[in-house]
Amino acid sequence: MSQQQNNLNPQSEAHLHGPLFQNTLQNFDEAAKIINCDPNVAARLRKPRRSLTVSVPVRMDDYTVKVFTGYRVQYNSTLGPYKGGIRFHQNVDLPEVVGMAALMTFKNSVLGLPLGGAKGGVCVDPTRLSRTEKQNLTRRYTSEISAFVGPNKDIPAPDVGTDPQTMAWFMDTYSHEQGGYAQPGVVTGKPVEIGGSLGRNHATGLGVIYITERAMEVNQMQMAGSRIAVQGFGNVGSFAAKFAHERGARVVAVSDVTGGIFNGDGLNIPEVIEYVKQNKGVKGFPGSQEITNEQLLEVECEALLPCALEGQIDTHNAEKIKAKLIIEGANGPVTNAATKILDKRGIFIAPDVIANGGGVIVSYFEWVQDIMSFFWEEADVDSKLKAIILKAFDHVHKFKLEKNIDMRTAAMAASIARLEKAMLLRGLYPR
Ligand code: NAD
Repeated sequence: MSQQQNNLNPQSEAHLHGPLFQNTLQNFDEAAKIINCDPNVAARLRKPRRSLTVSVPVRMDDYTVKVFTGYRVQYNSTLGPYKGGIRFHQNVDLPEVVGMAALMTFKNSVLGLPLGGAKGGVCVDPTRLSRTEKQNLTRRYTSEISAFVGPNKDIPAPDVGTDPQTMAWFMDTYSHEQGGYAQPGVVTGKPVEIGGSLGRNHATGLGVIYITERAMEVNQMQMAGSRIAVQGFGNVGSFAAKFAHERGARVVAVSDVTGGIFNGDGLNIPEVIEYVKQNKGVKGFPGSQEITNEQLLEVECEALLPCALEGQIDTHNAEKIKAKLIIEGANGPVTNAATKILDKRGIFIAPDVIANGGGVIVSYFEWVQDIMSFFWEEADVDSKLKAIILKAFDHVHKFKLEKNIDMRTAAMAASIARLEKAMLLRGLYPR
């Protein structure tokens, strides 16, 4: 049978393809070519293994029943149980979940974790649900996908619109359905009281700073005294700014949805964190100059840490970036086209799959601790995180130098290479 006949009719798969997945496949194809990936392996890696769509009927507070649509896409499990978050958002659809599940597969692989990739979600605006409705939704969604998840099968985690409380309801529902025995290992991102890990809250921001330090080192720079700008002052951005400040960097600019603030001598980050608690945003912080989010990205600095939204640096502003390093705290803050421009300009990018990998690495630790029923001190979690994230960075950086490619392509190539080896060793079932 020819290669063409062998492939499914693309029309029949149109329902799986959205912009995120197309973009990932484009990166995949480019990287697969560089490492000469076995075409049979590449063909398997270009498709999700299993895509589940479920109806989720929910009793609302007014006693009516609303039926939401939920998904769980299990992309690839060559390296271990599936792992990936659950999103509650009104824009969730199957193509988006497929794209995110593919990204989780490549992220877990490049980080060297013994985990496959998955993602799930429900198409719902969670801000319009009461707490009871959100709990009902979470429990029924869990029940609908429960045959497919489990501590050895597929381990979900929080994402946009879900939080530690949602994970606690997930764990409780699953445990009841398994005979009532506590099964903390079925989900991560739980509160510490029921099997969550110490250090999870700051893990992504801390990982961003470990990577910033290492990226500086390989570019003959150092953290102490360097100028850093951080876009986004939420979980990732505020911890990244705090850890940079503690290491003697001058955090000259930060921003959030209210706008940006600048001080060339460096902002007092602990005070900014306190200010944000009182004022719900960074705007108006005493002793700072007001700047726009656009201006923040173009600030003169050694390292720019975009930790807010995707698509912030594109072809419109890539030429104006003055930072020497960009460390992607957010997912997809620099577009593919902008990556090429920045690479040509000699600006070093630490890609999201590594730079913000601290979150999934500590999720992995949470799962390990739950399975062992033995919990680690926060300092242990932080140091194990450092070892794993820097090993991944160094491996990808070596790849970049060997192949003379940008870090994003190198990360994808390293990820595919690990999956390829494992897939060839395991072979194709039945044959
Ligand atoms: P968050 O909601 O805690 O914080 C987001 C921050 O971005 C807030 O300060 C918000 O005000 C700011 N923001 C929103 N719109 C903005 C705009 N237009 N300009 C500037 N700032 C704006 O979210 P988070 O958990 O910190 O996640 C941030 C990014 O990091 C997302 O892309 C997320 O997917 C990614 N990420 C997060 C984790 C994690 O563990 N939290 C892990 C991996 C990746």
